[in-house]
Amino acid sequence: MRALRLVEQGKPLVEMDLDLPGVGPHDLLVRVRAAGICHSDAHYRDGTVPLKTLPITPGHEVAGVVERTGEAVRGFKQGDRICLHYMATCGCCGHCDRGNEQFCITGQMIGNNRDGGYAEYIVMPERSAFLLPHEIPFEHGAIMMCSSATSLHALRKARLAAGETVAVFGAGGLGTSAIQLARCLGALEVFAVDIRQGKLEAAQSYGAIPVDAADGDPVEKIKQLTGGRGVDVALELVGSPKTMEQSFRCLAVQGRAAVAGLGDEPFEIRPYRDLLGREAEVIGVSDHLASEIPQLLEWACRGRLDLSRAVTRTVPLDAAAVNAVLDDLGRFGGDIRAVITP
Ligand SMILES: [Zn+2]
Ligand SMILES: [Zn+2]
Repeated sequence: MRALRLVEQGKPLVEMDLDLPGVGPHDLLVRVRAAGICHSDAHYRDGTVPLKTLPITPGHEVAGVVERTGEAVRGFKQGDRICLHYMATCGCCGHCDRGNEQFCITGQMIGNNRDGGYAEYIVMPERSAFLLPHEIPFEHGAIMMCSSATSLHALRKARLAAGETVAVFGAGGLGTSAIQLARCLGALEVFAVDIRQGKLEAAQSYGAIPVDAADGDPVEKIKQLTGGRGVDVALELVGSPKTMEQSFRCLAVQGRAAVAGLGDEPFEIRPYRDLLGREAEVIGVSDHLASEIPQLLEWACRGRLDLSRAVTRTVPLDAAAVNAVLDDLGRFGGDIRAVITP
């Protein structure tokens, strides 16, 4: 099968011919129909996020069709449309038992330490697969597995309650989902902060109030727009120290900032003004849970999570085309989300 491989970090992906992966008793062999190109893939390629397993096939946002099933598989059959939770987990360690399977002690993430979806086929345990309803296109099913799922997990970690206000920092792939999911969960108002006009317009079309951070301090603007109060929940989806600081400085009393943007540069918290004085919380968000996926699929089926404007481009399974998308993501380019359709 054809696959795009990351052989060395800091170098472009290369196209290779590989043997079909082996199918264990509980595994599905899946023909990839859509694989999202995520900002984290750009970090993996450029080396900002070190990878232990190389060479590897990137791609953790995958939807496709079951081609073959292992002999112990009961829940799926050949021809089923599915999407894949990006973690392969054991289901029986202490973390899995407590429902925190993103910390599974033998957990593997596709496209990170297990071969992912930038290929014609992928193998995954059936416990990581979910039937993809016919109403949902493969491209949408794929990107839901990362951006939408992580946005929902962030909103749940931030304990968003109906009637509260939300600020979303970064109106890209995660942000467009976060805006809609916040509304599904009953948010009264959602502010979308970005520096790109196109992304602010997309956010507005999803019902958010745009806040242009290229034109003045977004914290001041959010304070003005909320009568000086600030927001109950802020989601940081960019990963820069500046947006992390802005995300908790715009909080109301007892507000919660959930930080999901990948970054490792330190940021500054003023203990009294930012935290104690308002009983504010800063919460780290890592990945998401398989148990959150059925809810997403339900909302997508009913059109309450609409990703039709989130997928801005499709590209073939071609090294030059995919490397160009990753270059663009590295420069925070205009695309919200490009998807490989092999
Ligand atoms: Zn992703
Ligand atoms: Zn486990």
